[in-house]
Amino acid sequence: MLDLHTHHKRCGHAYGDLEDYVQEAILRGLPILGVTDHSPYFYSHENHPYKQLAMSITEFDVYMEEAVRLKRTYQGQIEVLIGVESDIFKEHIQLYGEMYAKYPIDYVIGSIHFVSPSGIMESLDFNTASEEQKQQEALRYVEIMKAGIDSGWVQIIGHMDGFKRGYPAFTGLLAPYVDELLKRMAARGVALEINTSGIQHACKEWYPSFDVIERARFHSVPVTFGSDAHHPDRLTTDWEKVRDTLMLVGYRQVVYFRQRKPFLMDL
Ligand SMILES: [Zn+2]
Ligand SMILES: [Zn+2]
Repeated sequence: MLDLHTHHKRCGHAYGDLEDYVQEAILRGLPILGVTDHSPYFYSHENHPYKQLAMSITEFDVYMEEAVRLKRTYQGQIEVLIGVESDIFKEHIQLYGEMYAKYPIDYVIGSIHFVSPSGIMESLDFNTASEEQKQQEALRYVEIMKAGIDSGWVQIIGHMDGFKRGYPAFTGLLAPYVDELLKRMAARGVALEINTSGIQHACKEWYPSFDVIERARFHSVPVTFGSDAHHPDRLTTDWEKVRDTLMLVGYRQVVYFRQRKPFLMDL
């Protein structure tokens, strides 16, 4: 058992300190816990532009120092992996890669929350958009994901079909591109995350959907698990079901990363 996707109060919309997650993970018997709070908006001229979405730029140093300290403190009880859930912005791929190269990061989860920095304030509303707008947005999403897969600094693609969170039919918009994306991930050694947080939202299912997990197996894409917990109580949500599902489609191992290098854990 492991959980590679967790947040804490620094991002402004999660609960608990980093140490609360580490202690909860020890209580639950996890051998490995990844801490991956949201990346700051590194491209911004302001230190803390969206206080409810992510930590400030200057806070990133403090986050890293605290994670390193906890890794040492709890060594022997649990392995704390130091990560970040990074936004992928096509226009800032290089900048983000340069930032992460400066820190002792075990792995980066690359996720798309917005299709561009300007999209943070003006996201497309899929529920009222035209068919053409939706198709265009899906295509942009795919292009950003490709840039993330090719970036060299993304080890795991987070919530691959994440836009279904508020618009379940996004699954259908993404479907024509899934094989192409998975093949690209397999070729680059980029892992697919099974993220169970979607059950709390309109889509009411994991990211990605079952069909995508099956296709990932077909293309031999490495997989891993993340609860995307924003509260310590949510750690490892649905882990047993995910393990059974992965076994069902033919997986026998999940992947995790130390200093950006892949390691396998038996299911
Ligand atoms: Zn969050
Ligand atoms: Zn996310």
